[in-house]
Amino acid sequence: MPDDDYSKNSVQTFFPSENGNKEERQRFLQLIEQLVAGVDRLKNPEGVNLLGEKQRSDTFYKDLIQTSTIPDDSMKQEEVNERLLNLLHNHPYHSKYFLTNILPMASVPGILGMIAAFLVNGNNLWDVYGPAGAEAEVRVISMMSKLVGYDAAQSGGYTTWGGQGAIFTGLRLAIAKFAPDAPRKGVPGHFYTFCSESAHYSLFKSMEATGLGSDRLIKVRTTPDSAMDVEDLRRKMEQVIANGGVPIYIVATTGTTDAMGIDDVEQILYTASEIAAKHGLQRPHIHADSALGGFFAFFREYDFTANPLEFKPHVLDALQRIQGKMKHLSLADSLCFDFQKLGQTPYLTSLFLVKHADDLRLIDLAEEETPYVGHRGYGEYHTGYTLECSRMASSISIYSALLAFGVKGYQCLLAQFVEVNLAFREALRRDVPQAVIVNDDNPGIVTLFRIYPDGQNGFQAELSGACSLADIERTNRFNEQLFEVLGNQRDRIFFGDTKKHLVVQTREGSSSTLYASKIFVISPYTEVAHVQEIVQYLKQNIDKVFQLHADNLHTIGR
Ligand SMILES: *Cc1c(COP(=O)(O)O)cnc(C)c1O
Repeated sequence: MPDDDYSKNSVQTFFPSENGNKEERQRFLQLIEQLVAGVDRLKNPEGVNLLGEKQRSDTFYKDLIQTSTIPDDSMKQEEVNERLLNLLHNHPYHSKYFLTNILPMASVPGILGMIAAFLVNGNNLWDVYGPAGAEAEVRVISMMSKLVGYDAAQSGGYTTWGGQGAIFTGLRLAIAKFAPDAPRKGVPGHFYTFCSESAHYSLFKSMEATGLGSDRLIKVRTTPDSAMDVEDLRRKMEQVIANGGVPIYIVATTGTTDAMGIDDVEQILYTASEIAAKHGLQRPHIHADSALGGFFAFFREYDFTANPLEFKPHVLDALQRIQGKMKHLSLADSLCFDFQKLGQTPYLTSLFLVKHADDLRLIDLAEEETPYVGHRGYGEYHTGYTLECSRMASSISIYSALLAFGVKGYQCLLAQFVEVNLAFREALRRDVPQAVIVNDDNPGIVTLFRIYPDGQNGFQAELSGACSLADIERTNRFNEQLFEVLGNQRDRIFFGDTKKHLVVQTREGSSSTLYASKIFVISPYTEVAHVQEIVQYLKQNIDKVFQLHADNLHTIGR
């Protein structure tokens, strides 16, 4: 790094070597060692956060704004590294007590793939600028296409900005299919889209961003297992058409972010086709939002009878049930694998797949509109259809993870998550009867539970529409107290919560959402052996909330 005397080429020391000399390599590796060792020193498997001090006062961000300026002189990288490590102090880390949400640890293969990409810093805008990324991208698209049952010779896709980016591009495709002029003339106002009440808010955002407006997004009811109620889809599509609208896009969520509800892609396709045909319309584009759940496609070809990986019977059964609901994924026109979720790679590594690569031409730019790229490329690789211009070669990280884990590696990891989750459910049922599991129909990696202030299990009544809005809200507030109690100690064990598990009808005919606490098995370090301790901790805290409640009633009573 630059010394105090600015010799002629000191700026070169900011960069990896040109010629691969050993001295510069060792210096680079030492700097990386400093970071890795620094994080290791902060690790604390008995809590959630890394060690280190962080005082986040009310004026924390304001103070940062006031005190931050670019240093006038260069800083030694060792010192910069210390500052970087300081950023990581007290950072949440994926210890066994990290149970909050779909926020995975980045695996070693995933991180190394990123490093490989950074060492050449190719730009996936064009294969000539980023040949390594392009090669990896074509490979992983083929691998994942075959995994879900797409014909890899017909399918296509690219790495993009998240599951949300995939939903957004699915919508762009849908618009272009129904209005080929739309890319030039704008989007017609009578287009409607559909997703379930449990779907991710990505489509809501995409409606805003494409100019269709979120009022034209129709939310379809869910069944108690958080899957789309296909009969309600039928009704709502008919309604839209009767009012002069055209249904163009349906997002089938195959693995909801909270409850892991799985929409039935086959039924949705069947219903959409039938209604479209009846009205002489084109069938809507169907995007399977498999950002989270799609990874269970790793079990598509698992031999559940021979069970070669020797999963325990209850785990095997759960995996088979999930696989049963997932098996029609390949009927969707497009889908997504968020590798940054269950693919175990760092952000951002999302893969958008289309069943027919030709669809992408609908949203491509003409050659004269992309003057920088596309000429003298190596083949069919051009990316005028991506919303991004420059793109990172995140495909290299995906490639690395797919090779390192292999099908069996992913199967074992997912099965471990499922097994630990089943153990949580069993322990909750046994030791904490006040906690009602509200996504019991969905085996998977998440447990949602809800507590009831009068100690009774009110869940069935809520589902059946027999509860008043006031009752549901009272129970929601009670659960919110548990969120508070657990949230205050989240550096000890980090649970998740949701204020939107299932929309239910109230006795008065209105609707309301149910709040629930969440155990999300996402750390590879959470094992069945840890479940007992974690559930006892939960039990104590749930008892605390009941005690507070009783004290309050007592006070009011007096
Ligand atoms: C996480 C998630 C998304 C959004 O994905 P990002 O990668 O965060 O953009 C969309 N849909 C589902 C079902 C998800 O779980």
